[in-house]
Amino acid sequence: MERQVLVVGAGLSGLIAARELQKNGISTVVVDKGTGVGGRLATRHIAGGVADHGAQFFTARTNIFKAEIEEWLAEDLVRVWGYGWSDGSLKRTVSDGHPRYVTNGGMNNLAKHLAKEVQDIEVDVRVTDIKWIDDEWQVKATNDGVYHCQALLMTPPVPQSLELLSKVNIAPEDRSALQRIQYGPCICGIHVIDGEVNLPEPGAVQNFVEPVYWIANNEAKGITDKTILTAHASSNWSRNNFDMPDEAVLGFIHEAIQPYLGPGATYVEEQIKRWRYSVPLITHPRDTLIARGLPLVFAGDAFGGRGRIEGAYMSGLEAAKAVGEMFT
Ligand SMILES: Cc1cc2nc3c(=O)[nH]c(=O)nc-3n(C[C@H](O)[C@H](O)[C@H](O)COP(=O)(O)OP(=O)(O)OC[C@H]3O[C@@H](n4cnc5c(N)ncnc54)[C@H](O)[C@@H]3O)c2cc1C
Repeated sequence: MERQVLVVGAGLSGLIAARELQKNGISTVVVDKGTGVGGRLATRHIAGGVADHGAQFFTARTNIFKAEIEEWLAEDLVRVWGYGWSDGSLKRTVSDGHPRYVTNGGMNNLAKHLAKEVQDIEVDVRVTDIKWIDDEWQVKATNDGVYHCQALLMTPPVPQSLELLSKVNIAPEDRSALQRIQYGPCICGIHVIDGEVNLPEPGAVQNFVEPVYWIANNEAKGITDKTILTAHASSNWSRNNFDMPDEAVLGFIHEAIQPYLGPGATYVEEQIKRWRYSVPLITHPRDTLIARGLPLVFAGDAFGGRGRIEGAYMSGLEAAKAVGEMFT
């Protein structure tokens, strides 16, 4: 298959980059190993309801991202969930006046919405091998295809991208800049509850006490009519306990959730998800990294120093510019 650009990853940064490249008439194919688009914009169906188990909400500081959010608000794609979280106390929610946005129906809907504006997205396709031969990229994937393209945009978490590029001669300065980037892991619990839950308004607590720093009620968030909690363990605890059996993890999470359960509330169904790369802890200072001497660009939330959803969005935009310039 031949396209000008192959985008690896249909998370937020890959989708935004592909949308902008295609707007500018550059033929682009996006591949993702997941069964659907979104990457860490992840929403799981459970017990007839849904729960966000990756990104929980997003904020905006840049005018560019704020302007796009205005459009999403007008389309009823996203809405404001609140202006801050309880620090764990049952009474107090700290409001800092900054809106926290959520996607109606779950975070993954944001990716699905963006995917409608992008042609040629192939999911369930894992890139396995990348070579730069005779001035073109030859990229092998699990669909037995070989993608031939002139420019390559890599958006997976950087350690995964570097592994895929192990046969490519990346300049040592670029490789070491990329190797400096670090992500924190996150062990996430999804808990369907029968009974009352008393998380303070607007329905979440965020306190940086180990092991669980975030508990949110997806029902209060407005994305489901079932009482389903999402709990996230801290990066530090998740790293030290990444392979702990589910039963033992659940013991720790139950202890953290207990103060917010009404009398007689029970766990109906539970799942544990382990994210090896959840949020960037050490980022690259620029919005992208353009590899020296190669039509190869790295993008994602670990670029630009903002981290998270806004970082992925801004990095995707900048990546489209950087790749686009390779064709002018
Ligand atoms: C538990 C958790 C909590 C979070 N909470 C928040 C929050 O509250 N607020 C916030 O702003 N952000 C939060 N984030 C971070 C946010 O989700 C990310 O910043 C953002 O979604 C990253 O987008 P991205 O495009 O950079 O990367 P990703 O979404 O990771 O996209 C990369 C894509 O590459 C694909 N890929 C990887 N390897 C291959 C391969 N070999 N072949 C093909 N495809 C491949 C993956 O499947 C993935 O879809 C959270 C993340 C997690 C995991």
